[in-house]
Amino acid sequence: MHELSMAQGIINAVLDTANENNATEVNEVTVEVGRLAMINPEQLQFILGVLIENTIIEDAEINFEEIPAEIKCLDCEFDGEAVLDDSDHYAPLVKCPNCDSLSVDIINGKDIVVKNIVIEKPDDV
Ligand SMILES: [Zn+2]
Repeated sequence: MHELSMAQGIINAVLDTANENNATEVNEVTVEVGRLAMINPEQLQFILGVLIENTIIEDAEINFEEIPAEIKCLDCEFDGEAVLDDSDHYAPLVKCPNCDSLSVDIINGKDIVVKNIVIEKPDDV
């Protein structure tokens, strides 16, 4: 399952950062999710909820920020946010808003990135 490996990647990144900073607890995690990352957000959130049980992330608030799909059109050279038809989450159609072309280069919006985490350290107490 795609969402499972995504979720595991997110957790590993958060735990790595938390360990490097001697965190005792993670309070907040912000994850950027590209519009073209081809995941089901509800499913990702559900799996994350299961995976963080019994970790220092367990009580963290997990926020998702959606990153729009940015393209460069190969037909009219339009550069910017794409028009998406993602009624099918796993195979979104990416179109140029200017000329309706499907020949586009995707510049941004495919990744899932841990953007920010808020941790608690023993020193803070
Ligand atoms: Zn175009």
